[in-house]
Amino acid sequence: MTDYVQRSGPGRVGQVKEITSLANPIIKDIKALTNKKDREESGTFMAEGLKLVIDALELGWTIRTLIYAKAAKGKPLVEQVAARTVAHGGLVLEVSEKVLSSVTRRDNPQMVVGVFEQRWKSLAEIVPGAGETLVALDRVRDPGNLGTIIRTADAAGASAVLLIGDCTDPFSLETVRATMGSVFAVPVVRASAEDFLAWQKRSGAQVVATHLAGAVDYRTVDYRKKPTVLLMGNEQSGLPESLAGAADRTVRIPQQGRADSLNLAIATAVMLFEARRHLLALDGTE
Ligand code: SAM
Repeated sequence: MTDYVQRSGPGRVGQVKEITSLANPIIKDIKALTNKKDREESGTFMAEGLKLVIDALELGWTIRTLIYAKAAKGKPLVEQVAARTVAHGGLVLEVSEKVLSSVTRRDNPQMVVGVFEQRWKSLAEIVPGAGETLVALDRVRDPGNLGTIIRTADAAGASAVLLIGDCTDPFSLETVRATMGSVFAVPVVRASAEDFLAWQKRSGAQVVATHLAGAVDYRTVDYRKKPTVLLMGNEQSGLPESLAGAADRTVRIPQQGRADSLNLAIATAVMLFEARRHLLALDGTE
């Protein structure tokens, strides 16, 4: 049986490959993107959903492959995205739902999936200016937490998320899902703790570390006077002394009740909306 056929002609996007077999080598390569090693080697990742793919293209991300379900064929927005993919030299695949399910490891997959080139910023490119807030995460482990933090950073108007040390991959399927598209809007940087500490000294930003032992109430810090980096600790062990001790302030979010601590993503959200309270308005203006 033929794995795929190439179709073209009036009303059709040229260069569409139709694939129904799970054994197709192109599908095998895309499926492999669920592994970090394969994502790193190829420098690509998967994003699910038509809206996400459109947003990513609008923001100038490079699409390598567009995959859509047969049932989505002919839908104007899908055709437009397919045409843009081909125009940028990408590949368009029309696949069975079985193939989409297997690629995304979901029973009810989205109709559209894009494979994009990863984008990282380097620390050297991060020069915080007035009114900017950044989030720095020490060894964040949980993909859902990281995705939620990237989404929240986007919503609060933060400029970047810095990943310090060995962090979970922002381009994993689970993290990208949890970002709800914000992975395309918020620059992500990875750095060792040493490089972060060196950058911190020359950045001109105040670093506000969050710690369960912090003596300062997070609501008493002046977040207006300088750009601010909110430094958040690992889910299990919190911030090490090497990072917390080098911060300008070490703050705590007061708690009641029996919970030892807040979830990392929740604590980051509380901090972000406090640090940017003076900049956020209901009509979206700053
Ligand atoms: N067992 C860890 C510890 O002892 O630090 C708990 C870590 S907590 C789940 C993850 C991170 O969320 C912390 O390192 C801190 O950055 C932040 N966090 C959670 N609750 C906080 C609070 N009440 N005040 C300040 N930061 C908090």
